[in-house]
Amino acid sequence: MDLNTLTIASTRTAIAECQFTATRLVEEFYKKIKAEDPGIHAYLTLCEDRALAQAQRIDDLAGRGNPLPPLAGVPLGIKDVMVTRGVRTTAGSKILESFVPPYDCTAVARLEAAGAIVLGKMNCDEFAMGSSNENSAYGPVRNPRDLSRVPGGSSGGSAAAVAAGTAVATLGSDTGGSIRQPASFCGVVGLMPTYGRVSRYGLIAFASSLDHIGPITRTVEDAAILLKVIAGRDPMDSTSADVPVPDYQQELSRPIKGLKLGVPKEYFAEGLEQEVRAAVEAAIERLRQAGAEIVPISLPHTAYAIPTYYVIATAEASSNLARYDGVRYGFRAAKPRTLAEMYRNTRDQGFGAEVKRRIMLGTYALSSGYYDAYYLKAQRVRTLIASDFEQAFQKVDAIVTPTAPTAAFKLGEKADDPLAMYLADIYTVTADLAGVPGVSVPCGRTKTGLPIGLQILGRHFDEGTLLRVAQAVSF
Ligand code: GLN
Repeated sequence: MDLNTLTIASTRTAIAECQFTATRLVEEFYKKIKAEDPGIHAYLTLCEDRALAQAQRIDDLAGRGNPLPPLAGVPLGIKDVMVTRGVRTTAGSKILESFVPPYDCTAVARLEAAGAIVLGKMNCDEFAMGSSNENSAYGPVRNPRDLSRVPGGSSGGSAAAVAAGTAVATLGSDTGGSIRQPASFCGVVGLMPTYGRVSRYGLIAFASSLDHIGPITRTVEDAAILLKVIAGRDPMDSTSADVPVPDYQQELSRPIKGLKLGVPKEYFAEGLEQEVRAAVEAAIERLRQAGAEIVPISLPHTAYAIPTYYVIATAEASSNLARYDGVRYGFRAAKPRTLAEMYRNTRDQGFGAEVKRRIMLGTYALSSGYYDAYYLKAQRVRTLIASDFEQAFQKVDAIVTPTAPTAAFKLGEKADDPLAMYLADIYTVTADLAGVPGVSVPCGRTKTGLPIGLQILGRHFDEGTLLRVAQAVSF
């Protein structure tokens, strides 16, 4: 068995046909992780007991000749911002270094109910704040395509493991691009579903109105299979939508002939690396040849997306992160003299520099006197950005753009320049602000072999069309 090329479909078939057992497969994966992951550091925690117990359940089912569930025996990794019962969950932060949650995130519970096996928890930027995975309190992840480069972030571990073949697929989270941008940097498929499509119950909150859970996979078909399992209304999350979940795999077989695809001029402006532009334009040409109609469009408020995102995301983060006080969860600073000192020292020692920067920015944006000027203003611009998309989707069925302005950059290259780092998300934050779905699919390579991603954005709850276009262009 070649772990590097396994897909969800091929794994399930192999187990159903008893080519190997789920237990043997899990053991092979752990062997590979122990041999290869130290150089990449995609995993923070392994949960071998839980994985082997689930593998045994699947093997028992297969042994009795019972019909197998859709993800039977498929080994997966989960970004460490999703809670797992009995398995340490850190969110990449020291403040949660010993936190063992008492319940499972809905998305994880649904994967396991469908037969999937959780191998472990994936490294990520602290509280999902970052674009390079260099903000993890446990050390960075390296890009398996070039170990001197970052895997992107914040779901860097999730994307790197899929690229390295140390998991068949993973879950990531996307608040401003954190599924799509690392997928682009690592040459894998990353899907951010519509806001509300997948329950956020058990996702450690960064910015609640922007947070999404979604799959990172080797193929577009695998993304379709995983989305079907995790999507749908959950009574535990009042923002999860009660919208029927289609059979995404079936959608993939429909041709793209006649689809109208918008190409927004604002996404091809200054700052886009030449090689990325060339690969994306070549991919758009392939879509034209497959019968899509390419339509030039404009999303006029794009230039305001980064500042808008960094006001709203930091404001929500400052509120969400107030709960880490040394009392309720995980880490507590040693020997405080007073209660106030306990809070102060815990947060000072428990949070990293980027998280503190965001809490301060967000607290400032929400403070009385500045609320109208920053937070309220940002909310208004968010509405304008969303209406840009609404208008565009009256004319086109989907929008195609680069996922990120560059291919994977070197470790340390932007680490001291937060503003340069924030620009890595320039093409991805708009979809989070508008709540529309987006997928990144590999569409080419630079001369030195680094992957380049094409981003496809679509109407609310129309992930099916995105996946169809992704399938047609997939490289
Ligand atoms: N890189 C962006 C940030 O730092 C997006 C993060 C994310 O999507 N979780 O906020």
